[in-house]
Amino acid sequence: MTADERREELKAVFGVAKDCTRCPQLAATRTTVVFGAGNADADLMFVGEAPGANEDKQGLPFVGQAGRLLDTLLGEIGLTRADVFIQNTLMCRPPGNRDPQPGEIQNCSGYLLRKIELVQPRVICTLGNFATKLLRDDPTGITRLHGRPEERRIGELDVILYPLFHPAAALYTPAMLETLRADFAGIPPLLVPPEPEPEPEAAEAEAVQLGLF
Ligand code: URA
Repeated sequence: MTADERREELKAVFGVAKDCTRCPQLAATRTTVVFGAGNADADLMFVGEAPGANEDKQGLPFVGQAGRLLDTLLGEIGLTRADVFIQNTLMCRPPGNRDPQPGEIQNCSGYLLRKIELVQPRVICTLGNFATKLLRDDPTGITRLHGRPEERRIGELDVILYPLFHPAAALYTPAMLETLRADFAGIPPLLVPPEPEPEPEAAEAEAVQLGLF
């Protein structure tokens, strides 16, 4: 599939998702389905938790205070929102900002995985516990995992999964903000494409040069 075809398919998925009623309570209380936004061919994707009140109103992810912090942290590593794709574990706001429920996460996960499959990011930063546990398929918490990149296969895609603290958690805790900032500084090296495997002949020549036979 070309990048243009993947982008068109992403729009088609949005066309279905915007009227989703898989979670009857969320469908009844939401204003907007927050599908995700950004570069449809991004190398870097962020997966947050769920829309809050601002996101629910505007239909866009991370547009409140946590979103402004995310913009700042992106700026510090030379990126903008136009470079990345941002989505959440849930596309609908849980009423009163309660935690996403397991059944809701399950209902929304097909959309999340399809978006990953279509955008084809090389690096996925999970923000906080919900996205980290879902995409690692493991209950280990973010405090133990943050800042450690891991090679993972998600569907048919090989990605680097890079768990980070959720920016909302860092808003009021200066020490956590500094940790998040330090972890963000680890993103650019992950985006550097891997060196291609040397051609067999070049590998041979290298071995000779090293005196390996
Ligand atoms: N928190 C999230 O996890 N996602 C948003 O979109 C906004 C706040």
